[in-house]
Amino acid sequence: RQAAVPRSDALEPFSGSRPEGHVHKVVLLGEHGVGKSCLAQIFGQVEDGHDCDEAGGTYNRCIVVDEEEATILLYDAEQDNNQWQREQCLRMGDAYIIVYSVTDKTSFEKASELRIQLRSARQTDNIPIILVGNKSDLVRSREVSVDEGRACAMVFDCKFIETSASLNHNVQELFEGIVRQIRLRQDSKEQ
Ligand code: GDP
Ligand code: MG
Repeated sequence: RQAAVPRSDALEPFSGSRPEGHVHKVVLLGEHGVGKSCLAQIFGQVEDGHDCDEAGGTYNRCIVVDEEEATILLYDAEQDNNQWQREQCLRMGDAYIIVYSVTDKTSFEKASELRIQLRSARQTDNIPIILVGNKSDLVRSREVSVDEGRACAMVFDCKFIETSASLNHNVQELFEGIVRQIRLRQDSKEQ
């Protein structure tokens, strides 16, 4: 149990250094192997040299979207085999990125499952979610079409984008998108 704590502890230095509400906690969800860590490392601007398939981590970065700064704390946790940590993940995020691989139908089904879990864990919150079909570069082994992805996002009332972490395609757009979604909800709350 103790072993799972440092991850949430890691959040603390940041919440003190900036006004609350300025740091957006964004959580990556999705089955093992879909490319979460690769996407996180691109976001975190981790230098190349080691593979993506390492344990997750948190990435803190300030990005400018629509001429306005936003600080994102991206949370890439391996939730697969830790129930406690999985529940933490469903509670802590200001926004979620649910990733599947377009080459893996099972991961697509898992994404729907995660969406349902998220909805029941956060019933009253109107949290921004982006559904991400990653590995769009693997054209020949595709198992989930763009239309299927888009339709699923529509059913689950979230945004949708396809990315390729390998080609760094649409990754920046993904993170800009999540910032815009967060701002939209904030603006509507303030009215
Ligand atoms: P995670 O378990 O969700 O964190 O997945 P990883 O980021 O560790 O990636 C799993 C494997 O998929 C690794 O071998 C990556 O190199 C590979 N991978 C990740 N994203 C892409 C992508 O967009 N295209 C291709 N072709 N491979 C990818
Ligand atoms: Mg990973």
